[in-house]
Amino acid sequence: MRGGAHNLLRGNAVCDDGLVVDFSRMKAIRVDAANRTARAEPGVKWIDFDREVQAFGLAMTSGTFSDTGISGLTLGGAIGWLGGMFGLVSDNVISFDVITADGELRRANEDENPELFWALRGGGGNFGVVTSFEYRLYPVGMLLAGLAIHPFERAREALRFYRDFSSNMPDELTTGFGFLTTPEGMPAVGIVVCYNGSLEEGEKVIRPVREFGPSIADHIQPMPYNAVQTMFDPLAPTGRNYYVKAPFLREIKDGAIEAMVTRFAEVPSPFTVIFIQQKSGAMARGEPDRTAFGHRADQYSAVVLSGWDDPNQSEANIAWTRQLGAEIEAFGSGGEYIDELGPADSEDRIRASFGVNYERLVELKNKYGPNNLLRHTQNLGRRT
Ligand SMILES: Cc1cc2nc3c(=O)[nH]c(=O)nc-3n(C[C@H](O)[C@H](O)[C@H](O)COP(=O)(O)OP(=O)(O)OC[C@H]3O[C@@H](n4cnc5c(N)ncnc54)[C@H](O)[C@@H]3O)c2cc1C
Repeated sequence: MRGGAHNLLRGNAVCDDGLVVDFSRMKAIRVDAANRTARAEPGVKWIDFDREVQAFGLAMTSGTFSDTGISGLTLGGAIGWLGGMFGLVSDNVISFDVITADGELRRANEDENPELFWALRGGGGNFGVVTSFEYRLYPVGMLLAGLAIHPFERAREALRFYRDFSSNMPDELTTGFGFLTTPEGMPAVGIVVCYNGSLEEGEKVIRPVREFGPSIADHIQPMPYNAVQTMFDPLAPTGRNYYVKAPFLREIKDGAIEAMVTRFAEVPSPFTVIFIQQKSGAMARGEPDRTAFGHRADQYSAVVLSGWDDPNQSEANIAWTRQLGAEIEAFGSGGEYIDELGPADSEDRIRASFGVNYERLVELKNKYGPNNLLRHTQNLGRRT
């Protein structure tokens, strides 16, 4: 199933010797501004969705790159910039229209097919072909958002500061921390904030970030949601080679900081970033079986996103990513974000990434998907 085709690591959007269901021309979006809802088809990307709903002063949390499709992102759970207040994207789905693998068209919501509704909110593309997503929307005005960049020499200090700062914050604020190479070729680190509330109050809340200076550049400023959503697009353009590891962390331990700083000092490509994405506030609340997204208590996702141009450099970049991913994971909670799982990941790894919900999801997959028809995904398989 080809949604936005952004799931770069597994390449799950296409397959050889199989059937590709390509949604790229199914891009209708209907906004009900009075009821603050939107219904969208599976070929919609976040850049399309955000544009349409922002025209009504409304928004929904999404991901961090505007080129991502709503389909794969929503079905995996979805961690985004407004998540502290509104939760995961999947927490904001009102209903799905889905053709399950047994060939039936079903509606899944709190009242109709509630078990399927539970499974589709974090269970990936295992259960059927989703033909329509209905979302809840929120009024969202100007945000106080952006990035403060510091020299790599302060990486350890900055990450420890970020750990303390991000561990206690209001729901209005969602944050991240990045390692990157500047266009001038300088390794650097950055603290990212997105405050959804009054700009005056936001300034007070983020003051420690501004005061952790002197920064090389402070790009934190009022901006509309569409600007936040496209802010990082240049970091991952289409057409490059990519590899990713994304272990979940309950907290940022000293050992993980050491691993990131040490390895980034020898990063093989200037296009590679490490992005610690915070999953705070409403995203973290509730029991892990609230929906199929099982990692509520893990505060951070440490995304090691390697990018390089020369295919001859693939081996070195993949090896570096795997090495650092494993080193960070030693301080993690034992699972990875299912949307970042790789093709070589074993059943054990898939099991760990679905966490406590694995068994229930396998049962539901067997119920709705005879013969494991939809297996080109984070496969929940068919138990014999
Ligand atoms: C650079 C980068 C940044 C990212 N940032 C974030 C982030 O900030 N937050 C976050 O949560 N995730 C993030 N992700 C992960 C992202 O959630 C996944 O890549 C997601 O799967 C992309 O969705 P898509 O529709 O574009 O993918 P596709 O590749 O089109 O689809 C992915 C899989 O989803 C399933 N699928 C797609 N459409 C349907 C459908 N209509 N019905 C049923 N199943 C379907 C299929 O199994 C398919 O194989 C990021 C990924 C990258 C590469």
